[in-house]
Parts: sequence; C-alpha cells; structure tokens
Amino acid sequence: MKKVHLLLLLLSLQSLAKPPIKYLKNGVAINKCNVSYAIQSNLLDSLHILYLGCNNVMMKYKNEQVMFDPFFSYQALKKVGLGKIKFDEKAISLGLERIKQAGFDLQNVHDIFISHGHYDHVFDLPYLINHQAFKSHINLHCNTSVQNELFKFKDRINFITNQSPKCDSNAYDDKLWQNISEHIRVLPLRSSHAPHVLGVQFMKGESKANKFEQYDTTNFKSNAMHWKGGKEYAYLVDIIENSKPVFRILMQGPSIKPCPDILPEAVLKEKDVDIAVMIIASNQYVKEYPGFQLGRLKPKKVIITHWENFFKDYTKEPTLVPSTNHDAFFQKASKAQSKEWNYKTDADMFIMPYPGTKISFK
Ligand SMILES: [Zn+2]
Repeated sequence: MKKVHLLLLLLSLQSLAKPPIKYLKNGVAINKCNVSYAIQSNLLDSLHILYLGCNNVMMKYKNEQVMFDPFFSYQALKKVGLGKIKFDEKAISLGLERIKQAGFDLQNVHDIFISHGHYDHVFDLPYLINHQAFKSHINLHCNTSVQNELFKFKDRINFITNQSPKCDSNAYDDKLWQNISEHIRVLPLRSSHAPHVLGVQFMKGESKANKFEQYDTTNFKSNAMHWKGGKEYAYLVDIIENSKPVFRILMQGPSIKPCPDILPEAVLKEKDVDIAVMIIASNQYVKEYPGFQLGRLKPKKVIITHWENFFKDYTKEPTLVPSTNHDAFFQKASKAQSKEWNYKTDADMFIMPYPGTKISFK
C-alpha cells in the first residue's frame, strides 16, 4: 500500500471518530442565520460576506462583487484518494441557490481570486463557466498551477498571475493592488500551506498542463492528486470611499507559517485590518498560526472557514472537518491576546458560519 493511501485510510478512520458540532468546547457561535454587526468604520453602505463552504467566499459592496475559491462539489474521501472526482450538480445547484438567496449574483462577478490549485479551491469554476454563470470573460487572479489546470478555458478566462509585495516594506509597490471595481481593490499576499494529515502535505508542487489535456471539460472527471497547489496566496481586500480605504478584510488561505512578507508594515500603516477570514483546517500543524497574524493585525472579528467536513455531501448537514483540532485554533488565538487586542469571549470574537450564511458589517 502506498504511503498516501495509508494516510488517507487513517484520515477516514479519524473522521469516523469526529464528534458532532455541538460538542465544540469553547461556545463559539456556529451561525446558521444571517448576522449583522455594527463596526466603527467609514463604510457608506453595508459590506456583505457570504460563506459558501471550504474557502468559497463572496463579498459584496454596493452591488460590486468579488469571489474567492469557488467549490461546492464535496467529494467522498475514497474518491479523492483512490478514484476520480467530478462535478456534483446537486451540490452546485444548492450553492447557486444560496448565492441567489443571499442577494448575490454571479453575473456581476468579474474577478475571482484563487488561493492555490488544490481541487477544493478551484474545481467547480469550469462548471460555472460551462453553464454561463458569469457574463462573459472572467479575470482569474491565481498562480501558474491554476493556469495550467484551466488552460482549456483560455478563451473565457483572462488569467492574471498573482504578484505579491516583497518582505522589505521599503520595496512595497502599491501598483500591486488589483483595482477590480469602483469601490473594491485586492492585494495578493504570498502565503504557504500547512500539512494535511499527520504532518504530511499532499498535492505539492505545480500542476502540469499535459496532465489536464486528457480531461473532458464537461465533467472534469479527474484524479484529485493532479490538482497540485502551486504557490499559495492570501488576499487583502479594501473597500474604497473617496479614494481611501475605509474597510479592510484579510482573506487568509491555508494555515501558514509566518514570514515577514505576509503583510508589509507599509500596507498596515495605511489602514488596519477590520475583519480576518481564516481557514481553521489543519491549524494544529502550524504552531504560530493563527496567533501570529491575529496578534499583529488585531481584527475586530474573525470569520472561520474550511471548518466543515468536505468529504461529505455538500447538501447534507455539515459536521467538523477531520484531521483538524478545532479547539487548538482558539487556544492559540487566545494566547495572542494583548492590551491592544483583547476580547471577552471566543463567542464574541469568532464567527463560524454554516455554508450559505451571510455576515454583514456596517
Ligand atoms: Zn490546499
């Protein structure tokens, strides 16, 4: 038996042992209903953040929208490890319904940002393109691994290769911001990936275009292991009013090891971070995560993503993602508290939304 198969077997055994959500110890609210928070800012309108599962997130301000990591087709672990993955039309149609219900509209999405090339971050994009979910061309901000995976869609996708600021604050160039609409701009930030299970990271390296040549783009029935991550990116999203950033959100992709170029000091001086959207999966493998970022950025709220089991049918009631110590995330965050960044309870600071939940800030 290959090492990868053995690890997947262990992972599946561990998933059987996972308790249901209600046993999460620290009382963090798991939002099933849309919620709204008043946060001191110069926003002139509400900012809406829609969580759709994994790291699939949409944001909307004044009818301008942006999307991250489109993925609904949750796959059984045995298919990920040993079989082929393919689009799950039932799951995608539920996802599209959730988008509609929340008042979002993919026809108004022109820019999509991808954190990395693993299937659970980009796999459903071809389906959405095939089914005319977007108006015409989309601008896809991503790494070269994702460009190789989706090269067959080059007539419909305008690929924009992410460029990130260097760690030297003096070298920070504000031309790296992507001005995607009148009130929204996005800055890619180099990031990294935590191991998946037992300290091992799967699907490392760059996807090769020739591996993807063979796949039928109408169902993309493919080997999950071919969807390699490539360079990982986090994103900083600014809401702009009167030519100035008035609200700032960190979209933190995979759990990362801190390095100085996560967010140059020069960027932070311009505007602090209001909301951090952070992945919880595999956090226990990176001891500095999320404490390093949270202690430095001191956000007013933290939205937790990639918390639910994506080896389970998307249309079923979610349970916790296996191979993740959810409690460790909150313990490490709690240690990062300081005089400048302090919160009463975990339930006050963290929001763990069900897929389909809209979180609004005014
Ligand atoms: Zn990944």
